[in-house]
Parts: sequence; structure tokens; C-alpha cells
Amino acid sequence: MSKPIVFCVIGTRPEAIKVAPVMLEFQKFSDVCQPMLISTGQHKEILYRSLETFGLKPDEDLEIMQHGSSLAQVTSRALEGLDSLIVKHNPAFVLGQGDTTTAMVAAMDAFYRNVPFGHIEAGLRTETVRNPFPEEYNRRVCAVSADLHLPPTDWSRDNLLKENRDPSTIFVTGNTGIDAVLLAAEQKDQPWYPEFTGRVVLLTTHRRENWGEPQRQIATAAKRLVEAFPDIMLVAALHPNPMVRDVLVPILGGNDRIKLIEPPEYSLFVKLMQRSVLILSDSGGVQEEAPAFGIPVLVLRDTTERPEGVTAGTAKLVGTDEERIFQEGSRLLGDETAYKAMANAVSPYGDGKASERVRFLVLKALGVTTQEVKMWE
Ligand code: UDP
Repeated sequence: MSKPIVFCVIGTRPEAIKVAPVMLEFQKFSDVCQPMLISTGQHKEILYRSLETFGLKPDEDLEIMQHGSSLAQVTSRALEGLDSLIVKHNPAFVLGQGDTTTAMVAAMDAFYRNVPFGHIEAGLRTETVRNPFPEEYNRRVCAVSADLHLPPTDWSRDNLLKENRDPSTIFVTGNTGIDAVLLAAEQKDQPWYPEFTGRVVLLTTHRRENWGEPQRQIATAAKRLVEAFPDIMLVAALHPNPMVRDVLVPILGGNDRIKLIEPPEYSLFVKLMQRSVLILSDSGGVQEEAPAFGIPVLVLRDTTERPEGVTAGTAKLVGTDEERIFQEGSRLLGDETAYKAMANAVSPYGDGKASERVRFLVLKALGVTTQEVKMWE
């Protein structure tokens, strides 16, 4: 009998990173299932570069992205493409991750084709469906389609229960991003800035709602921190999007203690996080990963669907106001007690075994029996 095919659908960098350890986990069980890594191609280079860390390549790539595409165009191209792959390969299960257009399309198409859908990193919520845009909408659509909800934490599980999702379909797994970051940290890479003896502050910002004026304020605050603390070097890993670069580069360029770098391949980025004393970021993934190494994160957003880190004290929401970012950054860089309180807070996002749990639950849903013991029940 042929082995059941499991589609692991990705489209963007964060999905590639968070699905990679799940894919590796399924590969260990290739005697009983056939995992396939399916990319819509919503991101190109940065997706492939992230997968390199894990020695993975997509089995299929729809390459849907065209310059200047609207969300509707991305959605319709991805939906049509994925649908043709479901017809071609006849998967027994479709897995999607997170909150991208790709994840939403995977959920929709699995529903249309009556294939069970599992949602990794389910249950994250903000209060308004329009923020973050369009991610909050996407993840809510994923929840409507999902037969298996795989929330990372108790808080995200509770959000699903509040929406009256069937409790027997919800399993807290931890975040597969923690599995990814721990795998990446094991790899041997060149150290960053070995000659520099001062402190490194890392900046990443890419979110759509921060384009324009908010990013101008973020960049100005970061530059002020460099000017205020002579032992600081700021490293800005620039997102490829020109909307971001056009604002950041003129403000941050031309300063000896500011490095503007291309987004590093994942394991190098993880090493760069570990080299940093403080991270300023609007990234969801970075908020989850940095606490695994005890690095405080100032979150450059007004809302977060990841309040667990804020509650645990590993992250602080500071918004995008220049003065606020500067004040909060100065406090952490100048006050050891405040710094240690954040650095010593315990990461709430998982123990590095989330992918095993995901794989176990999917195989169980498919009726595939393996010899292993259920280690977490
Ligand atoms: N990341 C990376 N290189 C970079 C910046 C980020 O590999 O230059 C990784 C980061 O560690 C995290 C993921 O990309 O795992 C986050 O992606 P992004 O910030 O694009 O998306 P979000 O997490 O906000 O959805």
C-alpha cells in the first residue's frame, strides 16, 4: 500500500523556518509516511536561504510572486497553484503554519478538497481582525478550516476554546520556532564581529503597518541610541522590501557604528542574535526566539499576538514612537538591574520538542501506528 502523503505548505521565511524542523521530523518516519515540502513561492531568496540551514529544498515550488502583486492576486495564484498540486499528489493531510496568505490558502484549499488540515501555531490573536493586516484575518480563516489545531502555548489554546473550537482537536505543542532556533544554534558558523569589544544592538523591522513614518521613527530612535552610548554598535538586518530600505538607509547609513547588512541566512542570524545584548524588532519570530537565549526584545509594535513573552518579562511592547523607543532602549542599556530582570526571565515558548508532537499527532490522525511512547501525555 502506498504511504500517506503529508503536505507541509510554506511560502515565506518564517514559515520555512518554523516548518523545517517539522519536515525533518517527518523525514525520520519516511517508512510510514511521505512528507512533501510545498512552497507557494510567496518569498523567494530568503525562503531558500532559510531552508539551507536545515539542508532542505521544496519538493514543489509554485513561484507565484510577481513584482507589485496585490494580496488578492497572491491569494488567487497560490490557491490555483496549490489546488493543482493537491490534485496531482493526493495528500492525506495538509499542514500549514501561522498567519500568512500561504497558510490561509492551504487551509482553504484543503477544505475545498476535503483533505484534513492541521494548523501549526494556531490560536494567536489580537483584538482586531485588521491588525496585524492581513495576518490576523489569515489565522482566523485557518482556524475555521482546521481539523487539528496545534497552538504553541496555553494562552493560544484558550483563544481557540473561547471561539468554541472542539477541545478534542486542540493540542498544545510548544512553538516549532524554538526547535528551529535550537537546531540552528548547534551549527558551527563564523563568529560575528570578533574584533569588536563593545555591545551589539540588533534591529529588524519589516511589518507592513510600520512602513513609512513609523519606520522613520524607529530608525531615528536607534540612531540616537548609538549616539548616546559610545560602546554600542547597531546592526540592522535589512528586509529586502524596498519600502523598508528606502526609509532606513538614509537615516542609518554613513555611521561607523551602524552596520546595514543583508538579511543573514538563518543560522547566521541566530548567531547574530546570540552576539547581541538587545534586540529591537517588530518580527513575530524574533520575539519568540530571542528569549531562548536570554536576550531582551523591545517589540516595535502597538499590539502583539504573543503576549506570553511580555507577561514572562522577556519582551516589552514599546510601539513605534521615537522618544519611547529611545527611552526604553536607554533604560536597558544603562541600568543593569532593569536589564537583568528581562534577560533572566524564562522563555514561555517551548522546550524544543514541538515538531515531534506535531508529527506524532498528524500520524495518529492518519491512523499510522508507530512504536514510540507518547512522551508528553
Ligand atoms: N530572520 C532571519 N534573518 C533575518 C531576519 C530574521 O533568518 O535577517 C529569521 C528570524 O530568526 C525568524 C524569522 O526570520 O525566525 C522571522 O521572520 P520575519 O521577521 O520575516 O517574520 P515574522 O516572524 O514577523 O512573521
